[in-house]
Amino acid sequence: MSGLFRTGAGSDLASLTTSAVRDGDHYVVNGQKIWTTWAQWADWIFCLVRTHKGERPQQGISFLLIDMRTPGITVRPIRTLDGEAEFNEVFFNDVRVPVENLIGTEGEGWGYGKYLLEYERFSMSGAARSKRILGELKEDAARLGVANDPLLQDRMTRIEIQRLALEHMELKLLSQSEAGENPGPEASKLKIRGTEIAQALAQLRLDIWGSQVLPYSEAFLEGEADAENPAAAGAAAAWLNLRKLTIWGGSNEIQRMILAKQVLGLR
Ligand SMILES: Cc1cc2nc3c(=O)[nH]c(=O)nc-3n(C[C@H](O)[C@H](O)[C@H](O)COP(=O)(O)OP(=O)(O)OC[C@H]3O[C@@H](n4cnc5c(N)ncnc54)[C@H](O)[C@@H]3O)c2cc1C
Repeated sequence: MSGLFRTGAGSDLASLTTSAVRDGDHYVVNGQKIWTTWAQWADWIFCLVRTHKGERPQQGISFLLIDMRTPGITVRPIRTLDGEAEFNEVFFNDVRVPVENLIGTEGEGWGYGKYLLEYERFSMSGAARSKRILGELKEDAARLGVANDPLLQDRMTRIEIQRLALEHMELKLLSQSEAGENPGPEASKLKIRGTEIAQALAQLRLDIWGSQVLPYSEAFLEGEADAENPAAAGAAAAWLNLRKLTIWGGSNEIQRMILAKQVLGLR
């Protein structure tokens, strides 16, 4: 398992501070990265690191593949409200990485990272997953006798319309990709709409189960999920966990900035 980690930076990716200094046939990496998803299971990690200071902050960033078993790497888990520990802080302390683990050309990592991020954002669309969840929610609503509630039907229909539009966009970008074109800044649209729909569905699930969720959310905060009613327990956990969606992969505010500049041409 591996992931892409933008070390020592958040939205302002080009300001990243984790450094890699050449020492013979190795780079020596120092720095840290918070919020590294599943780092505790990863064997390898792709890192954007600063190998030199360029005229522009985007210059001098390199792309390194690092073996997670290398001495000097510490992974510290972060426990979240849903009782999970999916995310971690990763520390690099004099980590020696063979020069052959450099991807592409030294100092050109910004371009590689941007390319990969387009695909990461594309993958966050999740139109098929949202379709499945909407189907499950319809079943839950029927089981709980609220399926004919007009307000609930209105919310489900609005989400379904947005989801269908998202699926259409996703298929369009997929066929472009098959024809050899990159997703480009359009991937930001998929990230925004896909994550908003996923959060709206999590809210809907919570509202459908109503007060039945309360004892389970308590159990989750204590780290003891109750299996008696997994759907209700899952509603609370999913709502808490999915707050992340509009932040990770580049926050949705940043995606809107990308669309404003690169698609609408605003300055
Ligand atoms: C749960 C979780 C998992 C993650 N997993 C990974 C991972 O596996 N790998 C990885 O590399 N990273 C990961 N991240 C990091 C994630 O990409 C960053 O958190 C994200 O890019 C936001 O950066 P930040 O947290 O530093 O917030 P900041 O950059 O400090 O932003 C704070 C707020 O300010 C807003 N903001 C910042 N700049 C602007 C601007 N110019 N215009 C308008 N609004 C702005 C942001 O939208 C946000 O609301 C994860 C984050 C989370 C929360």
